[in-house]
Amino acid sequence: MNEPILLTPGPLTTTLATKQAMLRDWGSWDDTFNALTASVCADLVGIVHGEQTHVCIPLQGSGTFAVEAALGTLVPKGCKVLVPNNGAYCQRIIRILGYLGHEAVELPFGDDQPADPARIGAALLADPAISHVAQVHCETGTGILNPLPKIAQVVAQAGRRLIVDAMSSYGAIPIDLGTMPVDALIAASGKCLEGVPGMGFVIARRSVLIDAAGQSHSLAMDLHDQWTYMQRTGQWRFTPPTHVVAALRCAIDQYLAEGGQPARLARYGENCATLVSNMRRLGFRTFLDDAMQAPIIVTFHAPPDHAYEFVEFYHRVREKGFVLYPGKLTTVDTFRVGCIGAIDVTEIRRATEAIGATLLEMGVQKLG
Ligand SMILES: *Cc1c(COP(=O)(O)O)cnc(C)c1O
Repeated sequence: MNEPILLTPGPLTTTLATKQAMLRDWGSWDDTFNALTASVCADLVGIVHGEQTHVCIPLQGSGTFAVEAALGTLVPKGCKVLVPNNGAYCQRIIRILGYLGHEAVELPFGDDQPADPARIGAALLADPAISHVAQVHCETGTGILNPLPKIAQVVAQAGRRLIVDAMSSYGAIPIDLGTMPVDALIAASGKCLEGVPGMGFVIARRSVLIDAAGQSHSLAMDLHDQWTYMQRTGQWRFTPPTHVVAALRCAIDQYLAEGGQPARLARYGENCATLVSNMRRLGFRTFLDDAMQAPIIVTFHAPPDHAYEFVEFYHRVREKGFVLYPGKLTTVDTFRVGCIGAIDVTEIRRATEAIGATLLEMGVQKLG
């Protein structure tokens, strides 16, 4: 097959088996399909060790739909939400809160600075009206990892509730709901689980979800309604993304066979280390210090050379079989390369060779 390798953090490269899992049609009343949904949900709770306390609510749509559904369903009207902000996905949460009519209190950090638990604690102490914190775990805008275990501790000590966008970390970076006080974790089918895009999910504390009856701003995004209907009937409320669920079932089987979260983290870690060292050898500079870099996606400074231009660079690398990702920073010219998907160091080595060849073709010499 002549498909390009996607070095983008969703959609991403999936295995042939995952693609083949979509080669049949299911009816939404079909018991085998409903069993598929139930088994996927059980595994999604298990991956983050939430069996005792949490439930999984799947939702049709991309990841943002699930973020909006979680904030809309689980945060009562009139609440004030603290958002530690170090990138584009944190900013998106602030926008969502605006649409929902919740007051957002932004706690700004630099794009290259992890959210600081001490500053979060101080902000909560300073404003007793803040009831919730909405935290992005791995900020995919840059690839920075925020220190979730410490943040969860600080938020719990302050007696507030925590909702986490774990979209690009879930499944790869360890998350233990047994020891981490988190009300809701949000992720999606098409990121580190290596399914196809189309289904988000929220791992919510059962008691908090039960208390959220009637709270949602939206019918389609009401996670309480989605969950109670599914509990009662085994079915999705509205047309389910059947092929996406089947592909996710197959992707989770492969995930578990590979060795689960530790194995996935190890593979992505090798991908990331190889990417960074090969790119540095070519002369590129990373945007983040290695210590705060998650092995999910890496932001590189654009070469400060007249001969460099992202669109041409992108197309030339694409012709060689690899899809890169534009930068998401407003003040610095960058581009991003994903480390996730059904790829290993072989693809990463070939990708960096393609990037090196492209620099020669374009006559780009000044990289740092
Ligand atoms: C991918 C992602 C999302 C969701 O983005 P969609 O384009 O809606 O899938 C949200 N937050 C983070 C951190 C992400 O990486």
